[in-house]
Amino acid sequence: MKKRRIGGSFDAFLKEEGLYEEVTARAIKRVIARMPGEKGKAICESDGRVSTTFRYRDVPFSDGSGIAKKILVGVCDRCGKVVAIPPQSTPSIRAANSLLATAAPRLSRRDRS
Ligand SMILES: [Zn+2]
Repeated sequence: MKKRRIGGSFDAFLKEEGLYEEVTARAIKRVIARMPGEKGKAICESDGRVSTTFRYRDVPFSDGSGIAKKILVGVCDRCGKVVAIPPQSTPSIRAANSLLATAAPRLSRRDRS
């Protein structure tokens, strides 16, 4: 019997959607890949210039339409807010975003017919 993880990871989600290879290949091609726990520097809205630690976080889209899960981001060492998103993480966020965008019209169209 195959066990299915409840909640699932973002990677598993991408694999189900057939996007995993495409997204990861693109992510790998991008410059320096950050690793979780790695230190960086960024500007925090509340603390100014701070040191950051790269961690996996669920990041809400700026328009509030959803959340990109387990995205590697720079977290402010002082207040714990997400203050930096490395370029390697943007394909994952974009993929999650466009999946939501394409899923929504499909549902409403089915309702109408
Ligand atoms: Zn801060």
